[in-house]
Amino acid sequence: MIAIVRPETLNTHREIGSGTDRQKEAVNEILALVKTEGDQALFRLTERFDRARLNTLKVEKEEFEAAFAEVDDTFVQALKEAAERIRRYHEKQKRNSWMETEADGTILGQIIRPLERVGVYVPGGRAAYPSSVLMNIIPARVAGVEEIVMVTPPQSDGTVPPPTLVAASIAGAGRVYKVGGAQAVAALAYGTESIPAVDKIVGPGNIYVTLAKQAVYGKVDIDSIAGPSEIVVVADETANPRFVAADMLSQAEHDPLASAVLITPSAGLADQVAKELEQQCNQLERKEIAAASLKEHGSICITKDLPEAFEVVNRLAPEHLELLVADPWNWLGKVKHAGAVFLGPYSPEPVGDYFAGPNHVLPTNGTARFFSPLNVDHFMKKTSVLSYSREALFRDGAKVMELARAEGLGAHAASIRVRLERKEEGEELV
Ligand code: NAD
Repeated sequence: MIAIVRPETLNTHREIGSGTDRQKEAVNEILALVKTEGDQALFRLTERFDRARLNTLKVEKEEFEAAFAEVDDTFVQALKEAAERIRRYHEKQKRNSWMETEADGTILGQIIRPLERVGVYVPGGRAAYPSSVLMNIIPARVAGVEEIVMVTPPQSDGTVPPPTLVAASIAGAGRVYKVGGAQAVAALAYGTESIPAVDKIVGPGNIYVTLAKQAVYGKVDIDSIAGPSEIVVVADETANPRFVAADMLSQAEHDPLASAVLITPSAGLADQVAKELEQQCNQLERKEIAAASLKEHGSICITKDLPEAFEVVNRLAPEHLELLVADPWNWLGKVKHAGAVFLGPYSPEPVGDYFAGPNHVLPTNGTARFFSPLNVDHFMKKTSVLSYSREALFRDGAKVMELARAEGLGAHAASIRVRLERKEEGEELV
């Protein structure tokens, strides 16, 4: 069921988000249509792709109320507690603007402001993803984004799954529109009669959503391009093979393209985990998906020791990394690249997916080498502030002119010279 591989041949990185020529063409057509025809195009495309005939795109207050009536109180309570933990975690990421006055009176600083309007894509189709709603909206709220516009495809009866609406309400989405796919991304990028144009679009989606986000990048900002989910478990002989297998399967059940990898110096544990995977997989509702994922993209890699295991980890730069070793805190310092690290037997990855507080939107496919988890900074921008003093300009002016002349930019040098000349002529600068 799962391949045993050597450390040097283990590779989880793949080509992602590129799509076929046909898919790109379809997305470009949809973008152009929404740009020119606005809401009318959204109604037509929603009928075509989601089989829903709508009269209005916006989710009304009564639909939120009906959604709350349909879900269990225990679900609402769990979602509220998760939202509160996620909010508290992200509060710690907030940074302040700063100004610094130098001895000569020069003031330099940085103003940090939230983005004004953010669009959050929440995938629909066959499943509801309330956790995605929380993880994408709460950091934006904590950053202080004034307007958060959520879009999600309707079901064929024109409704949005109640868990999604309940999560949107708890997370604090300003408005929710029933539109999905590339057409939703186009509406957020260009604006239509009913959907306002935003400054940034975040949130996962299928290949049409991904291609559309890539196409509108530059007009608006986007989050990173997500690949299939991945987990790497580093475990030693002290790990419980049942736990290891269960955690690998929790990723494998996402998608046949997901990858679950065990790296261990213990051949005994490797054997036991392989057996557990067989047994536990057969009991899952999503056993076909999990089995396909393990077969195509799962591996067990046996290393000579734990230091070698961490060399492999850093090469893979996994989205999720679990440390099921005797003293996980001792090894944390060896992790250079990972989206999120889960330490010890009581931190299974789903705790982070739903509840603990850190964001579950993580860099995939080796991009943890240079990307970070979704965070408050992604919803803020910075403006530099400079107020040079007279003394500082006279002190540094000649050096600035020197650098400007080296680049052949005479007007740059002149803007300094006109000020320095006035001083030589004995004039006071205003
Ligand atoms: P989706 O909302 O991403 O896409 C549905 C939309 O796709 C439809 O509304 C339709 O407009 C468009 N579409 C479908 N077929 C089309 C076609 N032939 N041409 C043009 N447009 C078309 O929902 P989905 O398809 O169920 O995909 C959800 C994705 O989100 C999955 O890949 C899932 O793995 C991913 N996901 C990721 C995370 C994460 O955190 N990384 C979380 C939840 C979901």
